[in-house]
Amino acid sequence: MPQSRFAQVRDGILQGATQIASPNFNARPAETDIQLIVIHNISLPPSQFGGGYIQQFFQNQLDWSVHPYFQTIEGMQVSAHLLILRTGEVIQFVNFNNRSWHAGRSSYLAQPECNDYSIGIELEGSDDLPFEPEQYQSLVEVVQILRQAYPKIQNHLAGHSDIAPKRKTDPGLHFDWSLFRRLLAIQASSKKT
Ligand SMILES: [Zn+2]
Repeated sequence: MPQSRFAQVRDGILQGATQIASPNFNARPAETDIQLIVIHNISLPPSQFGGGYIQQFFQNQLDWSVHPYFQTIEGMQVSAHLLILRTGEVIQFVNFNNRSWHAGRSSYLAQPECNDYSIGIELEGSDDLPFEPEQYQSLVEVVQILRQAYPKIQNHLAGHSDIAPKRKTDPGLHFDWSLFRRLLAIQASSKKT
């Protein structure tokens, strides 16, 4: 496995990721450790890739008149810590030390409000299309680095649909959890040698 392109996390910033600031965050509650990664998918318009609309959406700069679908999400203020594009490029919108607004009403292992203690990672994608190999590769590299930076994460990796099952379906049936966990185990063991 090639060396990770993402060296480390420094002061809540993933070194090697493109940085675009989102205003949609606030402070985590005091003395809250990061202990979960939540995986999502998003595409704007749905199932269409590229175009930069997700980036604009997370910056509250999306022109709602561009597409009819955009009017259904008009005014929503959301974000994620990271977005992984179809090319595997990783964009960071919110410092990991802050609380990004990705999960909504949610619960993991009976602990509510996942935004308080999680890192949200969006994959550019949709529920009805496979993800790209480059996205799995970037996701695995990023998750491995995050687990080293925030050891309480361990194997606490969930989909949005796992923490908000009645409301959310992402990352969807095309997200290959077994492939992801297999690649992650390879990445983790290569780091030890
Ligand atoms: Zn989601």
